[in-house]
Amino acid sequence: MTDGTSMLATLRRIVQEVNAAEDLATALDIIVHRVQAALGVDVCSIYLHLPDPDSLTLMATVGLRPDAVGRVRLGLHEGLVGLVADRAEPINLKDAPSHPAYKYFPETGEEQFHAFLGVPILHHRRMLGVLVVQQAGERRFDEDHVAFLVTLATQLAGAISNAEISGELNRPAFHPHRRDIRIEGIAGAPGVAVGRAVVTFPETDLDAVPDRSVDDVKAEVRLFRQAVAAVQQELVELKERMSDVLPAEDRLLFDAYILLLGSDSLVEGTVRRIEGGNWAPGALRATIQEYAGNFDAMDDSYLRERGDDIRDLGQRLLDHLLSASPTRTRLPDDAILVGRQISAAQLASLDTGCLKGMVSATGSSSSHVAILARALGVPAVMGAADLPVGRMDGREVIVDGYQGQVLLQPSAEVKREFLRLAREEQELSQDLLQQATQPAVTRDGCTVPIYLNSGLMAELMPSQQAYADGIGLYRTEVPFMARERFPGEAEQAELYAQVLRAFPGKPVVLRTLDVGGDKALSYFPIEEDNPFLGYRGIRISLDHPEIFLTQLRAMLIANQYTDNLHVLFPMIGSVRELDEALALLARAREELYDEGLRVPAPKTGVMIEVPSAIYLAERLAEKVDFLSVGTNDLIQYLLAVDRNNARVADLYDDYHPAVLCALKMITEGGHKAGKPVSVCGEMASEPPLALLLLGVGVDSLSVTMASLPRIKWVVRSFSRRAARALFDKAMEIQDPGAIRRLLDDALVEAGLGALVRAGKH
Ligand code: PEP
Ligand code: MG
Repeated sequence: MTDGTSMLATLRRIVQEVNAAEDLATALDIIVHRVQAALGVDVCSIYLHLPDPDSLTLMATVGLRPDAVGRVRLGLHEGLVGLVADRAEPINLKDAPSHPAYKYFPETGEEQFHAFLGVPILHHRRMLGVLVVQQAGERRFDEDHVAFLVTLATQLAGAISNAEISGELNRPAFHPHRRDIRIEGIAGAPGVAVGRAVVTFPETDLDAVPDRSVDDVKAEVRLFRQAVAAVQQELVELKERMSDVLPAEDRLLFDAYILLLGSDSLVEGTVRRIEGGNWAPGALRATIQEYAGNFDAMDDSYLRERGDDIRDLGQRLLDHLLSASPTRTRLPDDAILVGRQISAAQLASLDTGCLKGMVSATGSSSSHVAILARALGVPAVMGAADLPVGRMDGREVIVDGYQGQVLLQPSAEVKREFLRLAREEQELSQDLLQQATQPAVTRDGCTVPIYLNSGLMAELMPSQQAYADGIGLYRTEVPFMARERFPGEAEQAELYAQVLRAFPGKPVVLRTLDVGGDKALSYFPIEEDNPFLGYRGIRISLDHPEIFLTQLRAMLIANQYTDNLHVLFPMIGSVRELDEALALLARAREELYDEGLRVPAPKTGVMIEVPSAIYLAERLAEKVDFLSVGTNDLIQYLLAVDRNNARVADLYDDYHPAVLCALKMITEGGHKAGKPVSVCGEMASEPPLALLLLGVGVDSLSVTMASLPRIKWVVRSFSRRAARALFDKAMEIQDPGAIRRLLDDALVEAGLGALVRAGKH
């Protein structure tokens, strides 16, 4: 391991192998053996941080006495290993025994080793343990060794944490199971759900295929053998077709594939795993990973590439298996949808009737899939990075959408406690719902219209009319995502007419198509490095008048009888973009006029969600009828925090002082132009933040149905004057946490403590 490339290749191979390990002991064993071989050292060991009592315990070693494993325990600040953990940085010593912190354990037989290098293993700021290499002679390990170990440790942290949980889940039936394994994530959609995990995965990714148990083993084996025969046939045909195009030596590759398909290790290995109870795709994944992994570990580059051939073959087999498998779209009654990366489009295209909850290993609370889950009333946890997704299928899970936690193997007591919490929450919602038909008028007599955020016909029920003053945001992209092609003019017009008719005489804001970012259309693929800073919203619409005009015409046609349409343009960043959008709207109306259809002119609005629009608020407002602040995007762009990225989720802060300043500028800008300002981002659906918005002077709020009763309660409990005083006070505070406390305290003092404590247990 001398040059950079081979170091990277070795690293990749180790990480890949560790990721595929079934439990922690295997994962650690792989690490110590591979590292020892790669660095050519005498000893490699791993100490893990174990609770009760807090210790750094030797968990795996090669080079020290094997029976020391599990027996050598250091206090958190003890010995050189403790020093590495304490300092959270590497320690590289020529002669360890002469260091004052050195602690000798006779059972290890380590007295002969002088050179010592320890690096910490950190996962999300948590100390998982220490990776140590030792050597007999007195020498300092060189830079390459340090760099290799540090790099490896950063990549292994996630895998170790994952293997730890997998191991707990994989214990044999007779073994006492650890109950209530808690996995931290981000609160995505409020509520609690108890159900069984159904793992969803991209079908083009063999490595993402989960384990899943089967009842009819024989049928599953048959399915697999049929797939093998089909792929064999496909390869023979492909080889024949290529006979004119490819030289004979290249065609040998097909023979190699066909031969591989006949090999025992691949076919019989998979069959054995199916007989062990796994479904064919899961058994195939495990076999291919093991088989390809053997080749990956080889030094010869030609042989290493055979690993890719095996994966390619595996993917072909998977394609056949999945197209033949009948089980993949059926959801059981108590389904908790689990996936590495669940997208809004995936959720929108599911029959959500059976869906009890959702857990995504990636994403954050402002991801569109989380917003959709909230709209559907499905409790959700996002960014649960430590969830062993591949081993989750069929397991009982509790989704705590308040705290952003997932509980595996729940105990009866914990289940009861969660159900009690859910019941209390529901009771509060019911009570508040009864008062929610009353208008939202502040204590000093200001009416603040409360609109609904929507985008799914399913949630638009006639009863909602009684509570909301209209629709403040209808996300038209959701019905686009649930289809396999762009909907036509008539289809769209029918859909929009239904929405407009649901609120006769009240404003209904239809937002024009806002795809891109994390909202993909399968039939309009966009490949970008920075999708949120890329091709999104109005930028696409202005580039594609054929799509945009169809949508605008459909909206206008839909509005011909109701005359309550408000058209809202997303992602506007300049006056020019707005001018172009308005010109196309005027053109759509003229076209209809020429075709003999006189339709009323709709009201128009601009979303303020791109930072440039903050400074242009007044000029933009002059050209339209209203402004609507999209705080979800505004905050991500203002704070440079990807709303979809769990890793930076705690930097995404609605209470950031810069957000307050921006809201003030926007409101003042809109009002200078004499136009009302609304907020339709998720911020308006949070009680303390709604109070803040009331204080900055916004004219109306657009919220989710689930939060509407709570938000009305807030508005009705305060005077505009008191809210303004709170906002002014908040503007003087720099710490977002202190701003939150100020607002929470005000809610408690006004007798709305139930909103502050909601979901806290
Ligand atoms: C927003 O950005 O705040 C918004 C309402 O739009 P979306 O969440 O659909 O991007
Ligand atoms: Mg937006």
